[in-house]
Amino acid sequence: MAAADREGKKLQDVVFSIGMAAQQAAAQYGADRVVNATVGCYAGEDGKIACLPLVEKLYRALPIRDFVAYAPPLGLDSYGRAVQEEVFADRRPDLYCETVATAGGTGALHIAVANYAERGERVLVADWRWAVYDSVCEEVGRKVRTFTLLREDGTFHQEAFAEAVHELLQTQDSLVIILNTPAHNPTGFALTYDDWRAVMDVCGEEEKKGKRLSLVVDIAYIAYSGEPHEVRRFMELFKGAGEHLLIMIAFSMSKGYTLYGQRTGALVGLSSSRAVIDEFRELGKYSARTAWSNVNRAAMTLLTNIRRDKTLTAELEAERRAFFDTIMRRAAMFTKEARATGLPMIPYTAGFFISLPHAAPMQVCRRLQARRIFALPVHGGIRLGICSIPERQLPGLAAAIQATATED
Ligand code: PLP
Repeated sequence: MAAADREGKKLQDVVFSIGMAAQQAAAQYGADRVVNATVGCYAGEDGKIACLPLVEKLYRALPIRDFVAYAPPLGLDSYGRAVQEEVFADRRPDLYCETVATAGGTGALHIAVANYAERGERVLVADWRWAVYDSVCEEVGRKVRTFTLLREDGTFHQEAFAEAVHELLQTQDSLVIILNTPAHNPTGFALTYDDWRAVMDVCGEEEKKGKRLSLVVDIAYIAYSGEPHEVRRFMELFKGAGEHLLIMIAFSMSKGYTLYGQRTGALVGLSSSRAVIDEFRELGKYSARTAWSNVNRAAMTLLTNIRRDKTLTAELEAERRAFFDTIMRRAAMFTKEARATGLPMIPYTAGFFISLPHAAPMQVCRRLQARRIFALPVHGGIRLGICSIPERQLPGLAAAIQATATED
């Protein structure tokens, strides 16, 4: 029945399928006897998904018209300005800038790929990556090409990145690159300032040769990545971008506002060319209008209300800091035990996930289920959602995984 080019399309969503298995196990054995490390949402020490208290209070208090009224396809103007303030804080580069409201960070990625990657061509992503990138590209007839994210010593593989960019641009006139940093999913890795300099140099070099590059920076987890001023330092480096190097920041309210299901985010475009940014705005408006028409007005209003009030912004930052501290404490506990038991781990800086490299992740994850530990197999290893594992479940977890991973 389906159109010829849609036949056989199937979403392989292991997060949801293993998550379901974890929930069934919890119902059968009791939640305390099951470790559900599949979840990508912050949970408190009670193991339940948590909402930032300020967000809950203000969201519930919004008038009903904010929930039911339409919004413009580009989003509320005030939201666009507030998102830019949040994205850049005091690191805003002196470039032309526009914002398109999107259905979460996923919608932002969709708009970026659909409008800036040529049909049939390759989008560059890291080998350790959020698997949805592949589907977003496939959905609009683009493919991915991966580069090795990490060197042996766990640092950013600048050479592999440069090689991949140069190689792709031998046959393509343009290239979309997606980099997820800081607090990378699935590893918790972040590019350093020097890594960013290398990235900008490589892109700048190609741009000077006449190529068109679009650099998409997926900052979905930036709110829990460290000191806000420090973690945005790399954004200063965008100021030297030539006119055919478009920077797009994929912003999401899912994690930073704990509004995962409210589907609100933004794509922020930055360019040294007014014409490029005008085009970005028109393309974004067109894509938004035809994909979802407009996004959650109440969530946009909430973010605007918080950002226009310094006291509320400070309150939000303090609450995020508390969530961040909890995640970092859990990660430190796990890391310490992983070291003690010899369990290999990708260097973790911050974020919702920890990754354990393994050649047969699916097999290990299946075996872990017999121990009532539910983790996610990803390309290159096993992902643990440290954001949602209560501290009481951490002692012995690394040892159990190590024992399972080394079983014959
Ligand atoms: N980018 C990464 C790396 C993610 O892990 C996610 C969510 O899990 C997103 C972007 C976007 O999330 P959402 O569409 O919920 O905003």
